[in-house]
Amino acid sequence: MIYFDNAATSFPKPKEVIEAVNNCLTENFANPGRSGHWPALRASRAVYGAREKIAEFFCVDDPLRIIFTSGTTESLNLAIKGSLKKGDHVITSSMEHNSVLRPISRLKEEGVEATIIECSVDGFADVSDFEGAIKANTKMVVCTHASNVTGTIMPVRDIGGMCRKHGILFTVDAAQSAGFSDIDAEDMNIDLLAVPGHKGIMGIQGTGILYIGSRADVVQLTEGGTGSNSEQIVQPTVLPDRYESGTLNLPGIVSFGAGISVINDIGLDRIREHKQNLTSLFLEGVKNIKGAVVYGHDRPAAPVVSVNLDNIGSSEFAYKLDEEFGICTRAGLHCAPLAHRTIGTTDKATVRFSFGYHNTKEEIAKSLDAIYKISAGRY
Ligand code: PMP
Repeated sequence: MIYFDNAATSFPKPKEVIEAVNNCLTENFANPGRSGHWPALRASRAVYGAREKIAEFFCVDDPLRIIFTSGTTESLNLAIKGSLKKGDHVITSSMEHNSVLRPISRLKEEGVEATIIECSVDGFADVSDFEGAIKANTKMVVCTHASNVTGTIMPVRDIGGMCRKHGILFTVDAAQSAGFSDIDAEDMNIDLLAVPGHKGIMGIQGTGILYIGSRADVVQLTEGGTGSNSEQIVQPTVLPDRYESGTLNLPGIVSFGAGISVINDIGLDRIREHKQNLTSLFLEGVKNIKGAVVYGHDRPAAPVVSVNLDNIGSSEFAYKLDEEFGICTRAGLHCAPLAHRTIGTTDKATVRFSFGYHNTKEEIAKSLDAIYKISAGRY
């Protein structure tokens, strides 16, 4: 099996991550932040340790501003719905995932105004495109760091600077960039940073964080038990408790921290270089295959490549890759309908190849051979 669906979730998970999770199911089993017995204290320390590592990785000074969630989707819902109210205006791009577009669509029903910047055919928008859409009531810009369809990297540092100049909140969806790009939340003027633990970070599914910067005033979307201020029937305002109600996902949180340690040990530069090399090799090969079309990738991009063949539909293409060659990709609209409209693939959709740290050059060569054979009608 060749696994090229790392944009959905990464595989394989590093042994350090598996060991950390196993440890939570056997030794470090208690409910963090609740009881005072030593296993509960040990679990609380593990959560705080992960929080500290994550904060350091994204250059955040205060670990208590890292809020654990179930993934990027929950983080984005919290950032968007917790910040915007009737009369506010939000700007976003046509390359966004539905985890941005759907919360915004929902808020539009409640009187929030929205502008969606139309990106270029390769999925890019410049800082001036966002700045040009600012109105008196603009409260937030939400932008993906790297597209999950074309890999296109958005100029988030510039957009962050522009937002800060205008006093607008800046929310970044780092689903495809975390574990690939350098992200310095404070230096890039990011107020709200949504990150999955299960993709480039290599932790397990059901994990994510939202970094909430000091300029953002986010209303919590859930209330409940926090293990703190239990004498009160109202939600505590202290961080991170305000946003973390209910039993925490200890194995997931610990796996997030373990994934960060693995990345730190290898070095993010090395990981990025490996993923870039695989992507370049793939692009060189696929561009030489007659009838193959690649979308974007004329400018810096994450290791996500959308491809079509002119002799076959995208679902059938992905099916043959899987069935005949054991290559796992993802066909369809990738939960990003406007991104596909932007690149002109609404009708046909695309097959997405997304590479991870554990993929090899040999796997790329095998997949190019498979694409060539399918394009030549041999399968
Ligand atoms: N945003 C983007 C750009 C994504 O690629 C994804 C995952 N496909 C998400 C958000 C949602 O991420 P999660 O599965 O962690 O909720």
